[in-house]
Amino acid sequence: MTDVTEYVMICVAWPYANGPLHLGHVAGCYLPPDIQARFERAKGNRVLMVSGSDEHGTPITVSAELEGVKPQDIVDRYHKINQQALLDLGCSWEPKIDPRGIEYGGSLFNRTSDIRHKTIVQENFTKLLDAGLFERRTSKQYYELSSDNKGRFLPDRYVEGICPACDSDGARGDQCDECGATYEAIELKSPRSKMNPEAEIEIRDTDHFFYRLDLFQDVLEQHAESRSSVWKSNVKAMTKQWLDMGLRPRAVTRDLSWGIPLPLEDNEWKGKCVYVWFEAVQGYTTCAQIWSESIANKAGHPDGKDSWKKWWMVDKNGNSPRHLYFLGKDNIPFHTVIWPALIMGLNHANAGKNSTQPVELPSVGELALETNVPAMEYLMLAGGQFSKSRKHAVWLPSFLQRFDPDTLRYYLSINMPENHDTDFNWPDFVEKINSELIAAYGNFVHRILTLGARLPKTANGPFENLEMNSITAKHSEKLEKIHLEITTSLERHRYKESLRYVMNAAQYGNQIIQAATPWKYLGDKFDGSDAAKESLASLAFGWRICRYLAVVTQPFLPFSAQRLWESLGQSGQVAQTDWYSAIDWQADMTWKDQNPEPLFKRLELDEILKQEQSLVSKEVTDSNPISNVKGGKKGGKKMNKQVEGIQYLDFNDFMKVELKVGKITSVEEHPNADKLYVVNLDDGDNGRVICAGIKQYYTAEQLTGMQVVFVSNLQPRPIRGVTSEGMMLAADDGNGQVKLITVDGQISTGSTVR
Ligand SMILES: [Zn+2]
Repeated sequence: MTDVTEYVMICVAWPYANGPLHLGHVAGCYLPPDIQARFERAKGNRVLMVSGSDEHGTPITVSAELEGVKPQDIVDRYHKINQQALLDLGCSWEPKIDPRGIEYGGSLFNRTSDIRHKTIVQENFTKLLDAGLFERRTSKQYYELSSDNKGRFLPDRYVEGICPACDSDGARGDQCDECGATYEAIELKSPRSKMNPEAEIEIRDTDHFFYRLDLFQDVLEQHAESRSSVWKSNVKAMTKQWLDMGLRPRAVTRDLSWGIPLPLEDNEWKGKCVYVWFEAVQGYTTCAQIWSESIANKAGHPDGKDSWKKWWMVDKNGNSPRHLYFLGKDNIPFHTVIWPALIMGLNHANAGKNSTQPVELPSVGELALETNVPAMEYLMLAGGQFSKSRKHAVWLPSFLQRFDPDTLRYYLSINMPENHDTDFNWPDFVEKINSELIAAYGNFVHRILTLGARLPKTANGPFENLEMNSITAKHSEKLEKIHLEITTSLERHRYKESLRYVMNAAQYGNQIIQAATPWKYLGDKFDGSDAAKESLASLAFGWRICRYLAVVTQPFLPFSAQRLWESLGQSGQVAQTDWYSAIDWQADMTWKDQNPEPLFKRLELDEILKQEQSLVSKEVTDSNPISNVKGGKKGGKKMNKQVEGIQYLDFNDFMKVELKVGKITSVEEHPNADKLYVVNLDDGDNGRVICAGIKQYYTAEQLTGMQVVFVSNLQPRPIRGVTSEGMMLAADDGNGQVKLITVDGQISTGSTVR
């Protein structure tokens, strides 16, 4: 273990509580920080991880209005669902106190409706206002008049109209989904209220506070410069783009009641709240403070309610804690420009300075800026961007009901959108789980355990006296080299690369065992020869490789790592095992005398696709209001609208229909119906009778001898006195042309159509 324990602050982007998380969110924002946190803890560092539900703002009120419920109902619902889904995925939001002790930190998944979050945000608002870092401006905004003369201002998302750039209807107040143009809402043509299209709307003046981002241009440029060797190229590029445009004051208040009210007495501020971006981003500090006050203090952290400062403040030697922010690429400038400007503004205000004095980078005792922002590109769903608002998604909760969370963690890690967008698709998912995770890793581990179970036991398992350093020294050296590669990649936030090295170690283990062929020397076949001893020494070393793999897979695959840990007879939690213990070749050999279970279950693509199809249909027919909301995170491409206007049949329902080939043996006129034939059909079994309304299209002669496709498991039903035992399929062009469906060439009657 390294002697220096670092304070590491892991900040995870706050998910909007207006829908369930999908796999795009997980790959971009929620899995990488958990891998990082687990790795940092295993290295002995003190980790505080914070995030929570972003519960204010118009995405929430729009969802609520469309569903006819209160915003509170929406956020309560999705906070619970998303928190549970993250826990089910193995994200370490519990326990809130690090098992090593409160001084090692912990984690908190909070929510912005927390009353303490609200008071801290209001205090910060007042500080920044008093320091002169806000300016007041009058702007123009749509106002919806209502019959009771009350009315309300319409946030951009509540206005729709014709795009001033491309003339397409249904454009949003600030952005057109059709052409991507952004504009001021008052530029929209034929504007109307989204919720009450009939209501009269007009433009009114409204006053708001703006944060003086312009004052921070120079320090932010210095800051970006100082991070240029650390940030990824996409982070550098987007930050530079913002800084090059020149920073302008940015609104921190808006006309909306669902949010944190302004801490101002004056009547003119009634009905306005703090802009959601301004408060949600402060969640990173408020959450640390709340953790400190409500958890660390009670658990006896020596710094009590101030313990959060260990993770947030520049220490007396001028060293900053390490701050890592995890988010999707659409959020980069928020975390490299806006949030640092707010942090420095708070430092400025806390120091009692005002707007006439220059703002500065943080110094001793002040809030620290981010160290790195390992932002991700997008994970696409079979080529189209995942989108919560457009129903183009695979939802995390439903995924976790069907699959081992480690299979998702594996797939999303090995396919992580680190430097470019990547795709999620089911065939690739199944392929990677079966042929990589199971074939290379799962099978290796299972082989070692099952071969070991065939050896004679000693007190400490079968391998104890079989080891020979002379045989395995070169292997331990190789594995130490791989361990260094795994570690270095994780330190550089290259998760995909790191996991590939982990898999290399498993493959290396496979090669050792394949070359040693220990199965030739088991039981009676053991002849005491050098060859036999050397082979079993390699097998014994296989146990050490398994232990190594349990430790290094833990950040990525915590559930299976723990299962493996226990199968090896190791005690306690692998998550609390020192990272460098993986290469401790002297660790005590242990054994669990039980039939080893395979670590993973193979996946069947056909089965998954069937299930998936039925889930997709279910989601489409559910009356989920989210499907009607445009917007959400900006920047998405236009999605195809294939799901609209189609009544989908559940795939499982469709599969219940049995189609078969039959041959018409004879045709009679229906005794009681002019348009019907009574058709006798050779169905490959006992024959059956079908009443068919095709008299105006076919003569009896034409039909006789024809091969047709029919529904064989339709409940028999009487049609005008004749029981019909099925239905023949026919094509109808709607213009008087009807043709029976037949088969391409001869095939025996009773054949299944699939
Ligand atoms: Zn447009």
